[in-house]
Amino acid sequence: MSTKANPYENFLNVLDSAAEQDGISLNEYATFRFPERELTVNFPVHMDNGEIKMFTGYRIQHSSARGPCKGGIRFHPDVDMNEVRALSAWMTFKCAIANIPYGGAKGGITCDPSQLSRQELERMTRRYTSMISPIIGPHKDIPAPDVNTNAEIMGWLMDTYSMIEGYPVPGVVTGKSLDIGGSLGRPEATGRGVMLVASSLSQKLGLDIKDCTFAVQGFGNVGSTAALLISQLGAKVVAVSDHTAAFYCADGLNIAEMLDYCAGNNRVLSGYKADGVTEIDKNELLYTDVDFLIPAALENQITEENVSKIKAKYIIEGANGPTSYEADKILFESGKIVIPDILANSGGVIVSYFEWVQNLQSLQWSLDEVNNRLSDLLLKSFNEVFELSQERNCSMRMAAYIIALRRLVRAKNTRGLYP
Ligand code: GLU
Repeated sequence: MSTKANPYENFLNVLDSAAEQDGISLNEYATFRFPERELTVNFPVHMDNGEIKMFTGYRIQHSSARGPCKGGIRFHPDVDMNEVRALSAWMTFKCAIANIPYGGAKGGITCDPSQLSRQELERMTRRYTSMISPIIGPHKDIPAPDVNTNAEIMGWLMDTYSMIEGYPVPGVVTGKSLDIGGSLGRPEATGRGVMLVASSLSQKLGLDIKDCTFAVQGFGNVGSTAALLISQLGAKVVAVSDHTAAFYCADGLNIAEMLDYCAGNNRVLSGYKADGVTEIDKNELLYTDVDFLIPAALENQITEENVSKIKAKYIIEGANGPTSYEADKILFESGKIVIPDILANSGGVIVSYFEWVQNLQSLQWSLDEVNNRLSDLLLKSFNEVFELSQERNCSMRMAAYIIALRRLVRAKNTRGLYP
């Protein structure tokens, strides 16, 4: 099966080469080639028109070697078993790279949320939660937002789980709203992390970020926050796109204004107009002539077929899995630097970890405390990965997987094999 059709194959290719490069035998890491537990649920939902519609959802726990499983829930028409498998495995490696005490998991429902009313979305979320409730919990597996899910949906999940248990359990989910135990800084955390690693990379390379240009694919939570924070550093974000449209301005787009526009336009960019801004083909955004490209949409955007068209020298993966295994090798050979997803977008799960710690201790940290701790943890792992990639003359993705795999293997060996 091609990696395009199966992102889990993409993960295995990277994992196997990292193990080979670091001399880790199959015996030592074979467990991490398989998800620990996979749950598929099929369930009915009452639609507003009186019909009963069947939905299929998943929750896959890739590893609990380093702690409870952790990862988001995605609502999207393309959600399937292989996608959720890959996303769950990437969470294991993301948490290991950040060195936070979690394994990895992911969930999703195959659906098009734009076709559901708010009430249908709520009923679907609650029924899905009840179906996966036997395997989630604050010490088992902690969901969070991902593509097309948000704080409100996490609130329904928290409420449903708490009703089943019979008492409030805020620590069962992260990315909740502040009123029910969410953390300050969580909504912006992934985009903030993308900004932090972009700015650290520019420092390492002796570049002044104010002289750098950026293109951002995706204007959801991650892409729009990263674009805003990067433009606030004084860099020029010259191009952004979402699934409806793409815009370019050589002097830098006004990201704050675009965010306001989206808020009043059903959360999409289409129809945006401003002086000096031109609409470009949304499929061409990846090929914009910029210093930094941030793919912050979905998987498999940069592949063997289109990699030669990428002009950016530095690629910061805001999305999970945007680059195929083959394309990644070509990017490395052509001297481009890729900050891999499991590092570049780890800000989200790092602040999820802070939210969970606050829930378990019934505390609330200040925004400064959250942001300072985020930057400490993220920049520590960024430096470790950057240094190993220099030492080994390998891509930052390889270095990230090697560091994560070493941590995973050590945890597995220390725990030993049951029974
Ligand atoms: N869905 C996000 C990710 O892919 C966040 C996961 C979490 O906070 O648990 O990293």
